[in-house]
Amino acid sequence: MLRAALLTGAALVTLLWGVQVRPSVRLDALFATGAHLAGLLAGYGVLVMLLLMARVPAVEHGVGADRVARWHALGGRYVLSLCLGHGVLALCGYAAHTGTDLLSATRGLLGYPGIAAAVAGTGLLVAVGVTSARAVRHRVRHETWRAVHLLTYLGAALGFGHQMAGPDVAGSMFTRWLWAMLHATVVVLLLWYRCVVPVRQTLRHSLRVLEVRAEGPAVVSVVIQGIGLDRLRAEPGQFLRWRFLERRLWRTALPFSLSAPVRDDVLRITVKTAGDHTRRIRRLRAGTRVLATGPFGALTAHKRTRRKVLLLAGGVGITPMRALFETLPGGPGDLTLLYRAGHADQLLFRGELEAIAAARQARLHYLLGPSGAAFDPLAPQALRALLPDLAEHDVFLCGPPAMADAATAALVRAGVPLENIHAERFNF
Ligand SMILES: Cc1cc2nc3c(=O)[nH]c(=O)nc-3n(C[C@H](O)[C@H](O)[C@H](O)COP(=O)(O)OP(=O)(O)OC[C@H]3O[C@@H](n4cnc5c(N)ncnc54)[C@H](O)[C@@H]3O)c2cc1C
Repeated sequence: MLRAALLTGAALVTLLWGVQVRPSVRLDALFATGAHLAGLLAGYGVLVMLLLMARVPAVEHGVGADRVARWHALGGRYVLSLCLGHGVLALCGYAAHTGTDLLSATRGLLGYPGIAAAVAGTGLLVAVGVTSARAVRHRVRHETWRAVHLLTYLGAALGFGHQMAGPDVAGSMFTRWLWAMLHATVVVLLLWYRCVVPVRQTLRHSLRVLEVRAEGPAVVSVVIQGIGLDRLRAEPGQFLRWRFLERRLWRTALPFSLSAPVRDDVLRITVKTAGDHTRRIRRLRAGTRVLATGPFGALTAHKRTRRKVLLLAGGVGITPMRALFETLPGGPGDLTLLYRAGHADQLLFRGELEAIAAARQARLHYLLGPSGAAFDPLAPQALRALLPDLAEHDVFLCGPPAMADAATAALVRAGVPLENIHAERFNF
């Protein structure tokens, strides 16, 4: 539904361009016409990118945070291409119009302050795009990547000024008003959901670390206590972004799923050491204040369409599955949890999972063994051997990206329709 709305928006922007086009076969006019379309769509695209990252609950819950992040990453490439395409076409149009070469045309165009500002804005968006490219992203620290990403707001503001002065938007009162209203709406959503709501939540719930307890090799659970946590409406399967107010952790908000349902004003997350921040979480002291935003994520009971459910967890991806295993409605035999891990020592919550399985008459299987071994417990035939009626299940899946991709492919080959596979990846 959101995708359809966004595509309709792009079609309307194209229509807006279409009604303003004055047909001409002159070369400069052709370049200018193309530049205007690319520019309008780029402006719209930037707006959509900001909207996707505004953390609007309806978007985060309806689409799912990891999917939204993937749309944002893909959309970002289109937006950058449109910005650059707009610049190149406008430059060629100006050169053809003034009868100069591209270098002189560049100098001429940069003489206009509005265009120089738009070029600077595009430069900032390019910097954001470069640091987000997969090859670069893995080499830069998350904080550096985030700091560069914040430049998007400045880039978008510079682009907005350019659009409001340009002929497509400035041409009529209606388009100026419409463009300004759309931008104002997105700015309000950003401020509300990224600034006001977290502060309000912090004052309301007053979260503090109650206990940090070891769960397994390099894995700890952090138990957090607060006030009125039922008003958070955090559902099993969801995650929050956590900021621990401790000297070396307060600058970063890290996403962690709830590893147990919210109960008696207590939340629990379970954290595997991945880098510096997760290592520091192991040493958190009781009483440390916590800021949490959320809940986010669409991997909840609402996704369910079938009576039988398979929960498939890989590694620390067990955290949301553990909470769902306890709470998803279902009678004897309706629920199955398959938990993939390299070795039995790496299994988390064994006692809890076995107690839940016994109490609910649910099935629980550990799929152990190194990845890449001759026997693959996630192969379609292995999955079908465990669950002959696999195709009749809804599947909730959470694990590292490679495991989630392989498992999705295997499930589809085993006959599970793609729309019945609900996945979350622990990376974005
Ligand atoms: C929706 C979601 C739910 C998650 N739930 C859990 C969970 O229940 N238990 C668990 O152990 N892990 C979970 N993770 C993964 C966890 O957030 C990362 O392992 C952790 O943020 C790494 O931080 P680090 O600084 O120690 O490691 P780094 O070495 O800095 O990063 C390791 C990896 O985590 C990514 N990462 C780092 N910081 C962030 C951030 N602020 N936001 C997003 N990604 C980041 C990096 O890009 C990198 O790929 C979840 C991730 C997501 C996206």
